[in-house]
Amino acid sequence: MYTVNTTHDPTLKSWVQSANAPGAEFPIQNLPYCVFQQPSGPPSIGVGIGDQILDLRTCAGSGLLSDPFVQVASQPTLNALMGLSTGDQSQFRRLIQSLLTENASAKKDNIEPALVSQTDVKFQLPCLIGDYSDFYASIYHATNVGSMFRPDNPLLPNYKHIPIGYHGRASSIVVSGTPIHRPVGQLSPTEEGGNPSRAACQLLDYELEVGCFVGRGNDLGSTIPINEAEEHLFGLTLLNDWSARDIQKWEYQPLGPFLAKSFATTISPWIVTMEALAPFRCAEFTRPDGDPQPLDYLTSESNSNSGGVDLQLEVFLQTAAMQQQGMDPQMLTRGSFTSLYWTLAQMLTHHCSNGCNMRTGDMLGSGTVSGLARDSRGCLLELTWDGDQANAVPGTQRTPIELPTGEERKFLADGDEVIIKGFCESDSHRRIGFGICAGKILPAQEL
Ligand code: MN
Repeated sequence: MYTVNTTHDPTLKSWVQSANAPGAEFPIQNLPYCVFQQPSGPPSIGVGIGDQILDLRTCAGSGLLSDPFVQVASQPTLNALMGLSTGDQSQFRRLIQSLLTENASAKKDNIEPALVSQTDVKFQLPCLIGDYSDFYASIYHATNVGSMFRPDNPLLPNYKHIPIGYHGRASSIVVSGTPIHRPVGQLSPTEEGGNPSRAACQLLDYELEVGCFVGRGNDLGSTIPINEAEEHLFGLTLLNDWSARDIQKWEYQPLGPFLAKSFATTISPWIVTMEALAPFRCAEFTRPDGDPQPLDYLTSESNSNSGGVDLQLEVFLQTAAMQQQGMDPQMLTRGSFTSLYWTLAQMLTHHCSNGCNMRTGDMLGSGTVSGLARDSRGCLLELTWDGDQANAVPGTQRTPIELPTGEERKFLADGDEVIIKGFCESDSHRRIGFGICAGKILPAQEL
């Protein structure tokens, strides 16, 4: 696991002034990666610094990088970089930081031509994502959703033993800013014994999640022991697992989510590396007294002590009418990644525990991040639900969210934009941000 080192020094500043502004998302301690494209250029790997991007392809071409980094920096995706050893990745971080630090100002004239404004580019997906699996790691989310359908028995008996997940769809993962068409699908019969209909989804929802990218993979037939799992994690991104609740309700038994999820998943363009997150690692979730301990293969001292990530997450909604009237997006949810029952290392180790091979660029979704408090519920299915965990009621009673235009929402309407933000902060380290993960709902297409 990465430890705190000189690259996290909170007193470090950059000659890129916007990186030094209080509250800047991308100070010199962060250095998240992205893939971007200028209007007439090929896709390039970049590093976020203040409101700029350091174009690593340009850096490689101007002799600012050394081997083996020249090669990986000239690729159109991050996969080659993600597959490097953790030692090489650390060295690359130090190299990039040395180009951007205040003390590098002697060389500033050479480096400045490699800066591109973030507003002048089109972001691409950061890497080729071969496989995507989505977990269900928030016990509050699992309990809330379970309570709607099984008030007497919300949490199934496997939940506290297995990081539950399903295989998602990698081909429909899109980068922030890509519009999302309301899906069309089979909706359950309106009366018992009736026939389903095929129509535009009426109960469209978002899910606040975090995506975790695999760095180095493992061979088919091998496993990733829990003590080595962190060395296979490259970094984190913000993720919105768009969900069609009415399609889901009709299709999910017996094999789980399928078309209700596979029409689109949005991620932010930025990957914040595990090394950048080192100052914000924390203990795993404290299991309440009486909860079982996981089996040995999912347990280690280092995972218990520092397997968590103290990452704050927020969801905002802006309707078309709010946008027309110049109103700011309204915050719907404020949650914390520390509320997850399972750590990222446990999810990865469990995923490979049957010999399944992970490949560089694969993505694990955390599952909806929900806390105990109502305002920390990570999707509308939970947020507008009138029940709570002490007083479980079936899922029909809902109180809509009220918006400053007088509009109400139980689920998403066409023209709504959902925006996810995330950041880590502490007293002793520089705050780092994750950028945004945004998507706007367009009307259903004729399919
Ligand atoms: Mn999900």
